[in-house]
Amino acid sequence: MEYDTIAAISTPMGEGAIAIVRLSGDEAIEIANRIFKEKSLQEVESHTIHYGHIIDPQSGITVEEVMVSVMKGPKTFTREDVVEINCHGGLVSVNRVLQLVLTNGARLAEPGEFTKRAFLNGRIDLSQAEAVMDLIRAKTDRAMNMAIGQMEGRLSKLITSLRQELLETLAHIEVNIDYPEYDDVEEMTHNVLIEKAGYVHGEIEKLLHTSNQGKILREGLSTVIIGRPNVGKSSLLNSLVHENKAIVTDIPGTTRDVIEEYVNVRGVPLRLVDTAGIRETEDIVERIGVERSREVLKQADLILLVLNYGDELTIEDERLFEAIAGMEAIILINKTDLPKKIDLERVKILAKSYPIVTTSLLEEHGVDDLEEAISSLFFEGSLEAGDLSYVSNSRHIALLTQAKKTMEDATFGIESDIPIDLIQIDLTRTWELLGEIIGDTVQESLINQLFSQFCLGK
Ligand code: GDP
Ligand code: ZN
Repeated sequence: MEYDTIAAISTPMGEGAIAIVRLSGDEAIEIANRIFKEKSLQEVESHTIHYGHIIDPQSGITVEEVMVSVMKGPKTFTREDVVEINCHGGLVSVNRVLQLVLTNGARLAEPGEFTKRAFLNGRIDLSQAEAVMDLIRAKTDRAMNMAIGQMEGRLSKLITSLRQELLETLAHIEVNIDYPEYDDVEEMTHNVLIEKAGYVHGEIEKLLHTSNQGKILREGLSTVIIGRPNVGKSSLLNSLVHENKAIVTDIPGTTRDVIEEYVNVRGVPLRLVDTAGIRETEDIVERIGVERSREVLKQADLILLVLNYGDELTIEDERLFEAIAGMEAIILINKTDLPKKIDLERVKILAKSYPIVTTSLLEEHGVDDLEEAISSLFFEGSLEAGDLSYVSNSRHIALLTQAKKTMEDATFGIESDIPIDLIQIDLTRTWELLGEIIGDTVQESLINQLFSQFCLGK
């Protein structure tokens, strides 16, 4: 397939970092050649790197000292011709090179467009493309590993084997219907059907079970810090942000113009509500009442409730405990450097099973314990990176949910002994839904597929 040539800055725009302008498309090499001084890039071998200078062909002025990689399709990520111009300077020079590339025939790539091309050109399947898109947005190492795992096709493999299972089941049914006299074909009894359906249903359920964790890893736990005025909420936010560098990922093909307040606490990505939001919640319970505030807080995956060690518990503190009932929370008793006034026994009663952590943010004490508490809250053995196929994409989740439903219909049908060709419909639908996850929307009839797979002794 042929598309126009796209270009973008494909490295994070940090100071001092090497920045790359990447081009992909039929004219990638030609366009790069127009602005490269030393030699003809159209005559070099594929997959070679060349030192030289970028010039503005109109004025003849030298703009940048660069290394240029020339890679001819199809052995590239997009399967198209790809050129990468490595610039040493900062933002200004890389932008100048990009401008030149754009004025000499390339079009600015949309975010993720390189990946889209890899998909359109058949280099990767849909779930892999989506994994790369997740990667582009990945906020932490863990989320990144998950995305890479998916990209490597774990999810695809699992889905493919489930579809195979369904296909074989369908083939058996088909044979029983069409050739009832054929004895050497195993009789597809309802019992066998139930077993097969149960297996597929169970596997789909397992996949769905990981999806919430996947979502959390990818999007970050939305975390709200609450507490009375002056207990140290802002200090807490600051120390979390300072101790845990916000994460940037190094993904080719993305221009990054959105910077979000994410922090990575021992592998747990937290999406801290912005400071404005936090200030809003300061007196939230008082302002809008327990019921309303519960609703606001319900949006959060994690609450950090801050108390003051050097002060007595107040009715406001108690109300905050009421407001967070039933939610994930950690209780922070801050300002332990002050003389104790708080009633710790009472705090323990109010906190029920919530972890309690004591800190002195002023003396930078206890933040470690808080991080430990956050991490063990979410990684208590339930998430062993690398072992599972995490489902992290909302489209996949929707399709899996539908597939689970159609498998339930099938199972119900089998149990109530309805005619087997009706059960076929649900199984076929499940097969199609799973196919959509890996981008395999087969046009040809399923029956043809079935019979090419299931050779009937001819
Ligand atoms: P917020 O109103 O809950 O956001 O509280 P701030 O974070 O703005 O802190 C209020 C005041 O308490 C500031 O003067 C902080 O420096 C101070 N503070 C924060 N943490 C501690 C602590 O651990 N010990 C002491 N003594 N003061 C603290
Ligand atoms: Zn504050």
